[in-house]
Amino acid sequence: MAFGPDSRTDLDRFTATLDASARIGPGRPGGLSRLALSDADREMRDLFVDWCKGAGLQVTVDACGNIFARRSGQDDALPPVLCGSHLDTQINGGRFDGIAGVLAALEVVRTLNALGHVTRRPLEIVNWTNEEGARFSPPMSASGCFVGAYDTDWVHALRDDDGCRFGDELARIGYLGDTPCAPRDIDAYFELHIEQGPVLDAEGAEMGVVTGGYPSHGMRVSFAGRTAHTGPTPMDERRNALAAGARWLTMADDIGWAYAAQDGKASAARLVAWPNKAGILSDHAEAVCDVRHPDTTTAKVMAERLRRAAVEAAAHCGCEYRIEDEWHWGGDIFDAGLITSIRQQAERLGVRHRDLPSQAGHDAYFLARHCPTAMIFTPCKDGITHNNEEFCTPESFGAGLDVLLHAVVERADRPAPLQSP
Ligand SMILES: [Zn+2]
Repeated sequence: MAFGPDSRTDLDRFTATLDASARIGPGRPGGLSRLALSDADREMRDLFVDWCKGAGLQVTVDACGNIFARRSGQDDALPPVLCGSHLDTQINGGRFDGIAGVLAALEVVRTLNALGHVTRRPLEIVNWTNEEGARFSPPMSASGCFVGAYDTDWVHALRDDDGCRFGDELARIGYLGDTPCAPRDIDAYFELHIEQGPVLDAEGAEMGVVTGGYPSHGMRVSFAGRTAHTGPTPMDERRNALAAGARWLTMADDIGWAYAAQDGKASAARLVAWPNKAGILSDHAEAVCDVRHPDTTTAKVMAERLRRAAVEAAAHCGCEYRIEDEWHWGGDIFDAGLITSIRQQAERLGVRHRDLPSQAGHDAYFLARHCPTAMIFTPCKDGITHNNEEFCTPESFGAGLDVLLHAVVERADRPAPLQSP
């Protein structure tokens, strides 16, 4: 049977592949704790590479550990169509998240292999390293490097809570590749991901066409104080960095509440302090917050309030502060042509679909800076995610997989550009 308008992916094969992944790096019951560059990440990567080789793909690994698995096209000189997501998880992560997106890309390739269809352009599957940022902050660090937003050396120098370097951990698990992690010609990037929100599930939609990302701003701030005895030190002489960090976090939470009616959000996400012991005031704290809002200008206003809150929190506690890192993503970043193609394929295949923005960050946000990019969302039960109770039925992927197959092939098979003589 040749590839045609009615071709379908194999949901049983996809489900079996997803189930195999769900056994690597178990976390709380039903979930995964497969942190980037851990032993479990290595085990998953090894299995993924085996699958890719079994599908006849040529596997390369870049200097940030991103894995690319290439299927030749009829014209191998044309830039590839890239499709994937990430295999790492949060510390209390689910077994679907970005994993479904990488394995969906593999399912597209397996389907084309079974049908004997060679696309005009090459196809590449990608697994991006450290999308979650659960172990090494910031998230999406390796896709950011791929599009030139970060330097490889900067990514390699990131440290986890135990002081382990990203670059050393990459080498330790055998995924410090020799291909540079740097921008190269990509025809288009597709990413399928579970929605991580309740909209599709609540409406009984089979698939979401992602129109863009909520504009988001995040920052990591350090506070410097002075250690002192918790007893005799007078209040006006205290420089408690832990209190400054905690104050900033609660101020961030208040900013989120101030915009909640318009679906604005702020996350007080992380606080570490040293020495963080009873009996002594901490002289160091580091905290991470982010804000997001559907409106770009309002998101910027929220970010400015977050920045001012850091200054106020430091001043109130007699501490100094420094913004260590700042990031921003989202907006109307996805390609109108690819969005239309996904929508048309969904309609043609009779899939119940709706448009919606993404509220979480994704590697696709960085790729959108580099090449035409689009995302497909699939439903997840009650929108529960970054939790071991994250759940998707096998059937919930069927529509997204088929639409992905046809959108990828449409893109990869379109005529080659005219050449000047
Ligand atoms: Zn994800």
